[in-house]
Amino acid sequence: MGLLVSFMTTPFAKRRRSLQKLLEDAKIDALLVTQPANWYYLTGFTGESGALLVSRKGISLVTDGRFGVQARLESPGVRVVLQKGALFTSVGEFIRANGGKRIGFDPGQLTVDQLRALRKATWGKTEWKPRAGLVETLRMRKEPAEVAQMRKAGSLASEVVQHAATLLKPGIREVEIAAEIEYQMRQRGASGPAFETIVAFGERSAFPHARPTSKRLRKNELVVLDLGAILGHYCSDITRTFYVGRVPARIRQWYKAVQEAQAAAIDAVKNGVSCGEVDGAARQVLAGYRLDHYFVHSTGHGLGLEVHEDPRVARGQQRRLEPGNVVTIEPGVYVEGVGGIRIEDDVAVHADSSEVLTRAPRDLIEL
Ligand code: ZN
Ligand code: ZN
Repeated sequence: MGLLVSFMTTPFAKRRRSLQKLLEDAKIDALLVTQPANWYYLTGFTGESGALLVSRKGISLVTDGRFGVQARLESPGVRVVLQKGALFTSVGEFIRANGGKRIGFDPGQLTVDQLRALRKATWGKTEWKPRAGLVETLRMRKEPAEVAQMRKAGSLASEVVQHAATLLKPGIREVEIAAEIEYQMRQRGASGPAFETIVAFGERSAFPHARPTSKRLRKNELVVLDLGAILGHYCSDITRTFYVGRVPARIRQWYKAVQEAQAAAIDAVKNGVSCGEVDGAARQVLAGYRLDHYFVHSTGHGLGLEVHEDPRVARGQQRRLEPGNVVTIEPGVYVEGVGGIRIEDDVAVHADSSEVLTRAPRDLIEL
């Protein structure tokens, strides 16, 4: 009964039908899907090796013996083919045996070697058509159940960042905080971090993607914590900035600017608004404080099965937000030799509203 119910309510078959509808417009008979997040999205298969072929007629997953039983259990309705020999040679042989003249692949996800093996195994009878981002386009529009899962991932990350703040005492090392953060994520049910946790003290916080080192925290330093958890396959991503000691006026002003920039961008996140406009909202506030030249990255990124996905919230992006999009909003200022400030939250777009999925206080905290 349990199995039957889960099969009936699986979103995977519906997503495959949506993809199948796109094949005709893309002028291909089938799409080869070689990226794990994409094949999970379409089948539920969680194995690390394989290739999925989605045609209008059917869905086949080629994988190796380690994942055969798992693939059949996780992916009802999908034909599982065990590879003999190298993966892409087997995929090519399967295509040769089952027809398919024009096969699409994502040129950003298939290597030159893999394409060479496919061409060789299909004896030159198949046309290989580069088609980027077909599955990613579907993944951008999250279903209500996906947003619900991301809400849980968001609150988990919010709890962890607040816990980590309580450990910020002079003498502690960046790596210790990072280890504690990842331990706390798993304790709360996460399968792991969504990306390498960023813990940056003092001047090191001026590097937007600082890797934790053995640097010890001192008094009168900024602290940037940027972390995300994977919970039930979906990612969260949150950043908070703290100050150990009494905040100097200059840093208080920078923090205020970033906080206002983030609030303006979150306000701008609405169904129908272009991603470039959202980015502009943050940039405009920072420009008002003459800090925009210290904002060295884009305002945010899509979030879902992967920590960086579409849509990109960056300068000049014409794409309009739609219900089901989930994006981060994370403006920052980074001053070499002093430090950096970033505040990041995850925001879901609904038809008539938007919803912040991460919930931790955003005011500057002096520790
Ligand atoms: Zn982040
Ligand atoms: Zn981010």
